[in-house]
Parts: sequence; C-alpha cells; structure tokens
Amino acid sequence: MTEKICIGVSRCLLGDAVRYDGQSKPSAIAIEQLAEQFELIPICPEVEAGLSIPRPPVQLRGRIDSLRLIGRDDPKLEITGLMHDYCEQKLPKLEQLAGFIAKSRSPSCGYNSTPVFTDNGEATSLLTSGIFTQSLVEHRLLPIIEETQLEQPSLLNAFIQAVNEYDKRLTSSD
Ligand code: SF4
Repeated sequence: MTEKICIGVSRCLLGDAVRYDGQSKPSAIAIEQLAEQFELIPICPEVEAGLSIPRPPVQLRGRIDSLRLIGRDDPKLEITGLMHDYCEQKLPKLEQLAGFIAKSRSPSCGYNSTPVFTDNGEATSLLTSGIFTQSLVEHRLLPIIEETQLEQPSLLNAFIQAVNEYDKRLTSSD
C-alpha cells in the first residue's frame, strides 16, 4: 500500500475542542473528503505551545512587520515569545508536510485573513497571517488553503493539485 501524502491541519478544524473558548470548528470537507485521500496531521499551535483550554483570546497588535500576540481583553497578556519559540522547535519536525489547511482569521493559524489591531487594540483594515502560518511560510513555501476556501470546488481542486505536485518535488529531492 502506498503511503498517503501528509497535510497539516489546524486541529480545531478536525472537530477537536481546542479553541480558546473550548469549542471546535469542524470542517466536513477536511474530515470526510480530504482525510480519505491524505494523511491529516493535526496541529494546534496555541495548545502545543502550552496554553490551556479554555484560555483568554489573543489578537495580533502593532506594526505589520513586528506584530505581537496580545490578550484581547487583557493587554498585559502577551504570548508573542512563547509562540515564536514554539514555531522554532516545531517547524523542523514538519518536513513531511506537502500542504497546510489553516483556520481562517486566527491570530496563530490564519492565512492572509487575520485582522491586525493597533497597539491599543483598535481595529484596522489590515489583514495578515497568524504567527504560526507566517513562520511556516517563511520556513517553506508549501500550498496553504483556509477552511472557508475548501467550500469552493475550484480552490479545493487547485489546492489538491498543488499538494500532489509539491509532494512529487519533495520526494524527488530526497
Ligand atoms: S485556530 Fe489554530 S491555534 Fe486556534 S484552536 Fe484552531 S488549531 Fe488551535
């Protein structure tokens, strides 16, 4: 039997109750459709970094080139260093991934959809990626899609094709 290609997935999308509010955000397409074709590797950066369930929500604040993870309701709470340390030790362990399915708007996992706030917590019109996904992209430019985009067949098919092509390049360079 051939081994399945590995794709990382924000763990809350697989139905695991790991979100800050103790809930999950299951994606039927990931769980029922993609899981047949690929090996889905669950990743929850916030929990794996050592945060509890539930936990105080955080948001991305500050300048776009030096964003910080700050408590939404408690500005004294900061987990920027914790998340960067986590990414540094986690990313080398994810070399088998040929793609990533990201939870939209998350300050850790979002992909170009995460709102940016000012240092004082005021909303801006800027969107960026969560700290984990930013680090993943800087580490290795692999195919990434958000769960909201999985609903669009053209985007889903393009992602599947990109993952297969990326995996071919991965395995041919071994
Ligand atoms: S969005 Fe990412 S950090 Fe937040 S609960 Fe889901 S997997 Fe964990």
